Amino acid sequence: MIPIAKPLIGKEEVKLVVEALKSRSIAQGPKVKEFEGKFAEYIGVKRAVAVNSGTAALHVALLAHGVKPGDEVIVPSFTFIATANSVLYCNAKPVFADVDDDSFNIDVEDVKRKITSKTKAVIPVHLYGQPADMKELMEISREKNIAVIEDACQSHGAAYEGKKVGGFGIGCFSFYPTKNMATGEGGMLTTDDDRIAELCEVIRSHGSRKRYYHEMLGFNYRMTDINAAIGLAQLEKLPDFNKRRVENANYLSKKLGKVKGVVVPKTLENRTHVYHQYTVKITEEFGKTRDEVVAKLNEKGVGTGIYYPLPIHQQDLYKQMGYNVSLPVTERVCKQVISLPCHPAVKKKDLTFIVKSLKEIKNA
Ligand SMILES: *Cc1c(COP(=O)(O)O)cnc(C)c1O
Repeated sequence: MIPIAKPLIGKEEVKLVVEALKSRSIAQGPKVKEFEGKFAEYIGVKRAVAVNSGTAALHVALLAHGVKPGDEVIVPSFTFIATANSVLYCNAKPVFADVDDDSFNIDVEDVKRKITSKTKAVIPVHLYGQPADMKELMEISREKNIAVIEDACQSHGAAYEGKKVGGFGIGCFSFYPTKNMATGEGGMLTTDDDRIAELCEVIRSHGSRKRYYHEMLGFNYRMTDINAAIGLAQLEKLPDFNKRRVENANYLSKKLGKVKGVVVPKTLENRTHVYHQYTVKITEEFGKTRDEVVAKLNEKGVGTGIYYPLPIHQQDLYKQMGYNVSLPVTERVCKQVISLPCHPAVKKKDLTFIVKSLKEIKNA
């Protein structure tokens, strides 16, 4: 089976983890500090604050921007559940906006329609590794005084007009094993705002600046030095990982772009896509349903992913809360998408096999 994701862990990761263990500093310590510094430098921001998951990063970012009960936060529904749930953690209300058919990212026009006097923030997700419309979103942010919390959990190193994502609003990254770089569990916040960065550090550690003195409600969202050790080695490799993802994606698009009924990913202008996922749409012209294609690919040994089969607003959790919104593009594309393996462990022979398999399924 060609897996849909595979973390690449080498001797560099092992060496740094052993170093962390031998140092006896195994909770948050000097390696976390070093990882924060290097990650901030990579993204091109002043500050980075490490946490123990991407979900924690989103929660901390919202709190640091003062999102409180009763506030509204505009989010896409075509994303991982954590994007919206982080808003619920603040007892605020996620308001769902539709997505763009080509990029799968939040639809700026729909964001504008959904702004009310209660809107405190918007969370664009750079889905599959492609930056959202940051220019337009930052304009809205300035005009309406709305915070931009970037869900960059799938887009380490992606850029908009040459500037890396996570450097526009506040960036929230995840280092879960399937992501472009991994630490096991882990996350990172990125910002140019010293005040926000310090607030994030306080919230991460039980609302405390000075040990055993607590100024506000916080959490234990700290990263360990063991995880940071993995992250330091992975960050070194990230540019090469991303380059290989892009090469794999370009090859697949060149071959699959000619197959009727397969819509290959479209990179919008001024964007660097880092292909966390290589996601095609299967349309009626293909002659087989999306779910048939998935079953047949899996039978042949090609791993696939459906990100995401059920939009958040249609999840039981949200239906129970009374959500009853209609998002036509979201509700259509969730039935069309298939992600195919394009991660750095995918070999040229795997790529030709994926292409061949998809063509065979169409012609069967
Ligand atoms: C992975 C992911 C998250 C959550 O990250 P965790 O580290 O798993 O908590 C949030 N949003 C998106 C879009 C993700 O892909």
